[in-house]
Amino acid sequence: MKYRLGIDIGGTKIAYGILNEDGVIVYRHRSATNIKAGPAEFLQTLVTDIEGILAAQDFPRKDLIGMALGFPSYVDSDRGVIVMSGSMANLRGFDARDGLHEYFPDIRTVVDNDANIAAIAEHKYGAGRGFNHMLYTAVSTGIGSGLILNGKIYRGAYGGAGESGHMLITPDKGVLCGCDNRGCIMSNAAGSMIVKHAIEAIEGGRQSALYELAGGDLTKLNAAHINEAFQNGDALAAELVDQMGYYLGIYIYNFFVSVNMNCYVLGGGMILHFGDPLMRRIRDTFDRYNHYEGQDVTIKYAELKEDVGIIGAGELLV
Ligand SMILES: [Zn+2]
Repeated sequence: MKYRLGIDIGGTKIAYGILNEDGVIVYRHRSATNIKAGPAEFLQTLVTDIEGILAAQDFPRKDLIGMALGFPSYVDSDRGVIVMSGSMANLRGFDARDGLHEYFPDIRTVVDNDANIAAIAEHKYGAGRGFNHMLYTAVSTGIGSGLILNGKIYRGAYGGAGESGHMLITPDKGVLCGCDNRGCIMSNAAGSMIVKHAIEAIEGGRQSALYELAGGDLTKLNAAHINEAFQNGDALAAELVDQMGYYLGIYIYNFFVSVNMNCYVLGGGMILHFGDPLMRRIRDTFDRYNHYEGQDVTIKYAELKEDVGIIGAGELLV
């Protein structure tokens, strides 16, 4: 039996899973993510965890055919380098693959962006099964996508394909994003940005239950508050959900007319939180602008749950 190690790096935890040849996760480990860590410190965490995991296995090390890591970052997978990271800004320039290679020279190491990995997993095992072209988009604190074209992940010249949450849609208008621009899709529709839009509106005099939900302290306002206010019929929260649905619908429309994919798989915390009302607004916006008759376009929920990052990472080693 041969084994693969999938590593899913998230904003709060690092999830490790050993997959056997049948794709079954036979061993799991978790550790906390230090989102402030720089490359040296982060590498040390990974090395310590991986050494512990390998020591705990009863199969010989040569039976591990590789390890693959997904980062919540812009990753140049060809070079194994973290180009930029919105949620883990200090990892910018982290040469993850070569760093790990120094400690584990006998183990093949692959590094990729988490949305690419989720796209690969959803395409093979989840909502994108049977589609030759598919876009996976995670809408959470940020917005990141993975493109499946002709059945394969497409990364582009510098690994930046799928960083399309930073496509400009209202240039120079709106909230400043980590991409150093105002008016990208993320700045209009990502979870962290929607919170900023809410704060701006309330500070501008808008009445909303969000103020009380945040305990009268707008620095404490988060997306869960917006969801709660939305469920209770708050007008501002409803406008913000409309706004997210609108820009995400436009996002999908723009992909449809540029790349002509016919399957859009949506995951991430915002999609889970706001569910059907948000999905309906996305669909309605797409339909309003799409005038190609008779071309089926599927917009659906992601299917794989919390193991998606481990499963998808494992696929990079197949
Ligand atoms: Zn941006």
